[in-house]
Amino acid sequence: MTTQKNTIIHTDAVVVGAGFAGLYMLHTLRDKLGLKAEVFETADDVGGTWYWNRYPGARCDIASYHYSFSFSEEVQQEWTWSEKYAGQAEILDYLRFVANKLDLKDDITFETRVISSDFDERTNRWTIKTDRGHTVICKYYISGVGTLSTAAIPNYPGKDSFKGEVYATSRWPHEGVNFTGKTVGIIGTGASAIQAIPLIAEQARHLTVFQRTPNYATPLQNGPMEEAEANAIKANYGPLRNEARAALAGGPFPNMRESIFNDTPEQVQQHLEDCWNDGGFALWLGSYGDVLFDEKANAIVAEFVRNKIRARVNDPKTAELLCPDYLYGTKRQPCETNYFETYNRDNVSLVDIKSNSIRRINEQGLELGNEDGYKFDCLIYSTGFDAFTGPLFKLNLKGRNGLRLQDYWNEGPRTNLGLMSNGFPNFFMITGPQSPSVLFNMPLGIEQHVEWIANTIQHMEAHGIDTIEPEKAIEDEWREVVEGIANSTLLPKTNTWYTGSNIPGKPRSFMVYLGGGAAYKQVCDEVAQSGYAGFVLSKATASQEAVAS
Ligand code: NAP
Repeated sequence: MTTQKNTIIHTDAVVVGAGFAGLYMLHTLRDKLGLKAEVFETADDVGGTWYWNRYPGARCDIASYHYSFSFSEEVQQEWTWSEKYAGQAEILDYLRFVANKLDLKDDITFETRVISSDFDERTNRWTIKTDRGHTVICKYYISGVGTLSTAAIPNYPGKDSFKGEVYATSRWPHEGVNFTGKTVGIIGTGASAIQAIPLIAEQARHLTVFQRTPNYATPLQNGPMEEAEANAIKANYGPLRNEARAALAGGPFPNMRESIFNDTPEQVQQHLEDCWNDGGFALWLGSYGDVLFDEKANAIVAEFVRNKIRARVNDPKTAELLCPDYLYGTKRQPCETNYFETYNRDNVSLVDIKSNSIRRINEQGLELGNEDGYKFDCLIYSTGFDAFTGPLFKLNLKGRNGLRLQDYWNEGPRTNLGLMSNGFPNFFMITGPQSPSVLFNMPLGIEQHVEWIANTIQHMEAHGIDTIEPEKAIEDEWREVVEGIANSTLLPKTNTWYTGSNIPGKPRSFMVYLGGGAAYKQVCDEVAQSGYAGFVLSKATASQEAVAS
């Protein structure tokens, strides 16, 4: 669709984003609840994160068949993944296939950014405005903006003075980039850069990697999806999905052992080796139950990975620079293919910017604090995201009393269940901060959120409820739950985007519920079954009804 500009549209719901979340939300509102919904999307196509992050090597790192929708048996049966871990182009094709199959595109207004979102207490309605002149008034407002969609590009002095080509992994050109014969610098060594670096190195005349913190990357072990395996998965989707939903992080790890201390050192090395060979997140999330809880257990796995890095990188000095020294797995573990071997190439060099940080960008490249200068034709930023809150704040939400979400969350997110925030009635967040989101299976987590939101809307419609929002006090309790679980693990001990500490000045709080998708779903369901304990549900007053009509 294409919502008409310069007129005021009244609709039941507005959804922002046309990635996994927005697509399923639209389908559910429109085709299951029979409501009118408008979707706004900045890109010119569906796909969300898989539309933007099309840098070389971008691919998922949980198995493709887990990284997909489960709600439609038809979709599950008709779509066949070609690789164990699908690449960006294939995932984007999959989302296009889903959008076409469910006939969703006509209700999405593309190339349009929401610029303001105001709650009107006189009517209990949201007014949404876009950069292309749309004004939409709706009862339900739903964010499908994703957790990692606002790029964080460091504001180095002289940033705009570089005369060469500038790229960001999070906004890669659609036509691709040919680095043949070019000198390239890349800043950042997170999951995105670790996927991109080996492929860029194959093309570039020379690649310089500027690393602040090394990563415990482990092999993805990707490969083609054989037809027999694909058929077996299709025949078995029901149980596979149930297993994934029940697993703590949304993917089953059947070889997980309880404690590293129950095994002999030889057994430990063998088990870690087996997990290493299984690939993906097997070592991180599926080796031993105490690795992310006990520093001594953690140190054993950390040393195992460091030894793997030392064995793969020829130059001992470079190898040591690539060896992390913080707690293993407390940063999101990247999965790699030939990443460490890339540093054995003559055309790749690694520069430590922790001991000697970037002082400024100049016309030809950059300078470090010790005045070392680097020149290149192309500069790539792979410096991460203003995760969770960044994309929400860009909606410019103003709730009751004109309170901005930024101001209400000035000490970190305040939510109940990561789904809603006090003072922002009928505003729902799909995979928002303080929900399992990025540490669960994203598509399945999205489905659970969409279904909870849809059931809530259905309940409101059936009972003549005009608004729902969390009680303020319950938000303090939920934050305690989220932080309490996080603090029982080792994860908060490291500075990461999970806590917001990758963004200068961002308030620090742990933004992921780590209790697992199943426990989380149970809490959400119990809340709904209790008649929404912890939420305030209200009917419209006569004057609100009069103004709204
Ligand atoms: P990231 O993990 O946040 O990595 C950003 C990198 O940039 C880090 O090496 C960081 O160093 C560096 N950096 C940031 N600011 C800097 C500065 N001012 N100066 C120098 N270096 C700076 O970002 P990402 O690699 O884009 O990945 C983000 C997340 O996206 C991942 O954790 C993952 O959840 C998701 N992702 C998923 C996939 C997949 O599913 N396959 C692939 C890619 C990404 P520090 O570590 O020192 O901060």
